[in-house]
Amino acid sequence: MSDTQLLDDLPIYQMIDQPPTCPMCGIRTNMYEILSYNILIQVNTCLRSDCGYEFLMMEH
Ligand SMILES: [Zn+2]
Repeated sequence: MSDTQLLDDLPIYQMIDQPPTCPMCGIRTNMYEILSYNILIQVNTCLRSDCGYEFLMMEH
C-alpha cells in the first residue's frame, strides 16, 4: 500500500493563511507538503500526544 492510498482516508480541510492547527483540540500540527496531480497538499498530524488527529489541507 502506498502513502497516497493511506492519505485518501484522511479528512480534508481548506487551506488557510495561518499555520495549521488541529480542528479537534487547536494545538499546532506537524506538517509536510506533497504535490499530487499538481495540487499542493499539506499533511498534518496533531502534536498533542493524546489527540494525534491526522488530516489534510488542500488549496481550493
Ligand atoms: Zn489535536
